[in-house]
Amino acid sequence: MEIIVAMNELKLVLDAKSTLGEGPSWDTEKKLLYWVDIVEKKIHIFDPRLCIDRVIYTGQLTGCVVPRKSGGLVTALKNGFYFVNDKTGRLAFIANPESYLPNNRFNDGKCDPAGRFWAGTMNLNEKEATGSLYSLDSGWCVRKVLGGITVSNGLTWSPDYRTMYYIDSPTKEVWAFDYDLYTGIIKNKRVVVRIPEGEGVPDGMTSDCEGALWVAQWDGWKVSRWNPYNGKKLMEVHVPAARVSSCVFGGENLNELYITTARFGISVEGLLKQPLAGGIFKLKTNVRGLETFKFAG
Ligand code: ZN
Repeated sequence: MEIIVAMNELKLVLDAKSTLGEGPSWDTEKKLLYWVDIVEKKIHIFDPRLCIDRVIYTGQLTGCVVPRKSGGLVTALKNGFYFVNDKTGRLAFIANPESYLPNNRFNDGKCDPAGRFWAGTMNLNEKEATGSLYSLDSGWCVRKVLGGITVSNGLTWSPDYRTMYYIDSPTKEVWAFDYDLYTGIIKNKRVVVRIPEGEGVPDGMTSDCEGALWVAQWDGWKVSRWNPYNGKKLMEVHVPAARVSSCVFGGENLNELYITTARFGISVEGLLKQPLAGGIFKLKTNVRGLETFKFAG
C-alpha cells in the first residue's frame, strides 16, 4: 500500500455546475458514470468518451444511483428505493422503510459484492441522529442495519470482501466492520481513520485493490487516500472546489477516479473563487479501484 500513486493532473471532465453532485457509480460494461444532483432531483448518465451527460428527473431528493444486473438502475430517493428505466426515465417503487419519518431523506448508497443495495438516511436538518443504514436484498426486502446515524454517507469494502467501511459524516471518522458476504451481517465496529480538524468532514468513499480508502472531504478541498490498517494518510489530491462530495473508480482499466463536487451552500461571492465547483473531475492513478457492484435483485 506504500507505493506511490503516480498520475497526471486532475482534470475537469464535466463542467456540470451541479448544485449537489453526489452518489457516483461506474457501469463497467457500458463505460458510463452514473451520478446524482440531490437537490435538483436528478440522475445523470455521463458518457466520458462522447462527453454527453443525459438527465433523468426523479421528482424527489435523490441520494444515489447504482446499476442493476438485469438492466436499468436502482436509486434511493427521499421516499425510498426505486427502480429506474434508464431508457424511458420511468420509476417503479420498491420499498420505503421510513414512511413514518417525513423529515428524513435517503443519502449515499452502494451495492455490496453480493449485490445488496446499501443506503442510509439523514434528517433534513442534518443535526438530529434520526438516520439509519439499510440494506435492500435481492428479494427486495429491506433490513435496518444501523440506527442513530446523523448524515449517512460513504460505504465501501476491502478487496477480500471481509471488511465494510462506513462514514457518518459529523463523526469525522471512518468506521470498519467485520462483514459477512453471504449474510450481509456486519459486526465489531471500530474507528480506522480520523479526519483532522479544519479539513472538513468525510463524505463519499471508495477503495482500491491495495485495500486503501479514498475519502472525499466535504469543505476540505480534497480527496485523501488512507491506510485503514494504521490510520495513516498515504496521499491527498487537491480539488478546486471546497465541497468534494464523493468518488468512484471508473475507466477502461478501473484506475481513473471520478470525483463529484457541489455548489450547495456556497455564496455567490464564494463561488467566484471556485468557479468549477459542482463539476465532475477525473484523476488517473496507477492503482486499480474497487469495481461498482450491481444490484442483484
Ligand atoms: Zn455524500
